[in-house]
This record gives sequence, structure tokens and C-alpha cells, in this order.
Amino acid sequence: MISGKTKLYGVMGWPIGHTLSPVIHWEFARAMGIDMEYMAFSVEPDQVEAAVKGAYALGIRGMNVTVPHKQTVIPFLDGLDKGAQVVGAVNTLVRTDKGYRGYNTDVTGLSRSMAEAGMTARDRVCILVGAGGAAKAAAYVLAEEGAAKVYALNRTIAHAEVLAGDLNRLFGREIIVPMALDGWRDIPDTGCLAVQTTSVGMAPKGEEAPIEDVEFYKKLDMAFDVIYTPWLSTFLMQAATAGAKVSNGSDMLVYQAAAAFELWNPGLKLSGEAIANAKMAIMAARGSAS
Ligand code: NAP
Repeated sequence: MISGKTKLYGVMGWPIGHTLSPVIHWEFARAMGIDMEYMAFSVEPDQVEAAVKGAYALGIRGMNVTVPHKQTVIPFLDGLDKGAQVVGAVNTLVRTDKGYRGYNTDVTGLSRSMAEAGMTARDRVCILVGAGGAAKAAAYVLAEEGAAKVYALNRTIAHAEVLAGDLNRLFGREIIVPMALDGWRDIPDTGCLAVQTTSVGMAPKGEEAPIEDVEFYKKLDMAFDVIYTPWLSTFLMQAATAGAKVSNGSDMLVYQAAAAFELWNPGLKLSGEAIANAKMAIMAARGSAS
């Protein structure tokens, strides 16, 4: 029941109709008995500042931020948490006395989900596909876990170079090697762990993959794709066909949401039942996601 005391949360992105975040937060709130609602807000790129100020003025308790606003929202916030500073992208806003503080829970979401899938980067040669916000979170996870090396492949090599420069400085070693998308041909290694972080292959263009040559997939032992619609992206299908273990981004989505929910409710720890319910709910809802 919505009442005058119901707390409002939401997610802003553009477009936003495909988001499964309201489903997840509804399950969390129901399982934990919290009086809240969570809405999806379609915010055009030139309206980000107005949306942040308006949300604050309306008393919205917290927000998630998704594509394409994860970086452009930063100037309108009351400071950044260390993790968001490191990654240079924000996906969660927590209300303070002066505005919203920016956090990045994609790092927690990805590392928890990869660990559960049995995918560890320790001492492994990794291939990161993409150089946007999700890629920065993934690069941080791979470097932090102790990857032997991370080849960062991206359509715009300049973006991969910036990502590599930032992370190599942070970790104090030349761990990330920037490359163009077709640079994989020069990678001598096999048995690699690949993390796909571009939006290429997302529904309704599920037949696409950022790398199409089947030879690429023979280099992989494990492949993680942040995409979860379709459930098995063409990237993951190619990797599985080449014999790699694969995992999609659905658990990452649930775990990044869990970390945001716990930031909004200090002291609260989501129950195993709440997490399990959210995972089931997104599996059920994915049929209607586009
Ligand atoms: P972003 O910052 O806009 O970055 C997009 C990336 O995709 C860039 O590397 C971009 O390359 C690349 N790209 C876009 N179109 C391309 C194309 N046609 N061909 C080749 N590369 C292309 O977006 P993001 O925040 O990183 O999000 C990326 C994806 O991750 C989205 O699908 C998002 O939904 C998903 N995601 C999932 C989760 C989860 O919990 N499962 C969490 C975060 C993000 P350029 O640099 O050349 O533009």
C-alpha cells in the first residue's frame, strides 16, 4: 500500500523501458518489509542536471543511474565515494544533506557474480571488450583480483588508452594493454578469461557480437557478458561453442542492486531469500524485457 510515508526511489536512463531494476527492488522491499516504491525515469541527455535537482527537491531517497548518464551525472552530485572516483562512473545516488553522493556498485556486483560463477582473474590473461563505464568497473575487478594481464579491446582505441592509463597508474603496473577491437589477433595467449562490456548484442539486436570471427573464441576458457537480454548473447554462444565456460550479467544486475539497496538502508543486510526472489523474478520478467 502506498501512503504518505512511502519512500520513493528510482532509476534514470535513456531509454529506460527495458530496465529490470524496479522488479528487483520490489522483491527486496517485499522480502525485507520496507515501505518504498521504485520507478523508472526516462531522462534525456540534456535533462540530467534538472532531473538530479528535481529528484532531490521532491525528496526522492535514492536513485540508480544507467546508460548513458553514468559519467555525465557526476558534476551534479555532492561528491563521490572512493570506488566511484576510481571507476569514474556512478550508478547509485545516496541522499545527503546537500544533494546526492555518487557510488558505483557495479564493481561489487561484477566481482560477486564472477566469483559465484567460478571465474577468477588471478594470474590469468584476461580480455576486456569495451572501454565505457562497465568496462572501467570490470578492469578494476580484474586488476584487483590479480590478473596477469588485461588486453582492453575497444572500437575507439583512444577510450581504451584512457582506461589503461587510469588503471595502470592506480595499480602501479602496466597491467592493462589497450587495443583496437580487432587487436585480438595479436594476442599470443589461449586459456583467457574474457569480459564483454559493450552494449553490442543486447536485445533487440541479439544476433550481433562485438567480435564475430570464431577464431577469437578459441582463445577463451571462460567468458562473462554483462548483457542478460538475450539470456545467452551471441558472444556467449560463440564462446560456449568453442568450449568455454560462460556466464551472463543477470546475477551482476541483482548484486549491484543489492549493494545499492544496502547503501540506501544503512545497517540492513539483504536476506538470502530476498536475493533468491530477485533472481527468480528477473528470470521470469526477462521474457517481456526488450
Ligand atoms: P558506455 O559507457 O556507453 O560504453 C559503451 C561501450 O560499448 C563502449 O566501449 C563503446 O565503444 C562500446 N560500443 C557501443 N556501441 C558499439 C558498437 N556498435 N560497436 C562496438 N562497440 C560499441 O556504457 P556502459 O555503462 O559501459 O554499459 C555497457 C553495457 O553494459 C550496457 O549494455 C549496459 O546495460 C550493461 N551493463 C550491465 C550491468 C549489469 O548489472 N549486468 C551493469 C552495467 C552495465 P566506444 O568507446 O567506441 O564508443
